[in-house]
Amino acid sequence: MSKFKEVADRIKSSSYTVVFTGAGMSAESNIPTFRGRNGLWSKYNPMELATPEAFRRDPYKVWEWYKMRMEIILNAEPHEGYYIISKWEEKGYVKRVITQNVDGLHYRSGSRNILELHGNIFRGRCISCWYKVHFKEAPSEIPPRCPFCNSLIRPDVVWFGEPLDTETISKAYEEAARSDVFIVIGTSGVVYPAAELPIIAKQYGSTIIEINIEETPISVYADYVFRMKASEALSQIDKYID
Ligand SMILES: [Zn+2]
Repeated sequence: MSKFKEVADRIKSSSYTVVFTGAGMSAESNIPTFRGRNGLWSKYNPMELATPEAFRRDPYKVWEWYKMRMEIILNAEPHEGYYIISKWEEKGYVKRVITQNVDGLHYRSGSRNILELHGNIFRGRCISCWYKVHFKEAPSEIPPRCPFCNSLIRPDVVWFGEPLDTETISKAYEEAARSDVFIVIGTSGVVYPAAELPIIAKQYGSTIIEINIEETPISVYADYVFRMKASEALSQIDKYID
C-alpha cells in the first residue's frame, strides 16, 4: 500500500487531526523565510527590526520593514497545500491548524480554527491601550497611531526577547496532546517552545507525520516522513481522501 494512502486512511479514521506549520510552508508560496542560508536574517539585523527596543528607538524604520513584508505577502498566493488543509477542515478531519507563520495565508485559504503562535503581521496593537487593528493592506501612514489614545501602534507579532502569548501556547499544547494525527509541515523543529509540540503529541500517542524537504530533529521519531514539498505531499495524500 502506498504511504500516501496509509496516511490518508489515518487522517480519515482520526477523530482529531492537528496540522502544525512553519516557515517551509510559506516559503513554497515565495514568502521569504527568516532563518537559513538565504533567510531574511542573513541580510537584515533582527535586533534593529524585530525587538521592542528597536521599535522604541525607531518606530518608522520598524514599520517600513513590516510594510515591505506586508506587501510581499499580499502579492503572494497560498499554494495548493493550504487549500487542501482548509478543505480537510471543512470535511471535519482537521480540527486545528497551529502555525509559527505570521503571514495569515491559512486564513486567506479558508482555514478557520487557527492558532498563530507568533501573531499576525496584518494585525496591529496599541502599545498603551486595548486597541487592535486589522490591516487589509499595508498602512499608508507609518508609524500608525491609535485612534483612541494616540499612542503608537505596533505590529501584533512576537519579537525577539518577547514571550509567546501564554493563552495561545497553552492552547497549542492542549491541542497537541488531544490530537490523534499530528501533521508537521515545514518547521525546522528547533525553535522552542514550538519544537516541543510534536514531542507532546507523540507522548500522547498521536501519529506524527512530517512533511519537510529537509531532515529535522522531528524526523527521527515521526511515524511517516515525506521528504518533499508540502503542496506535493498533501496533494498526493488528498487523492485518497474523499
Ligand atoms: Zn491606544
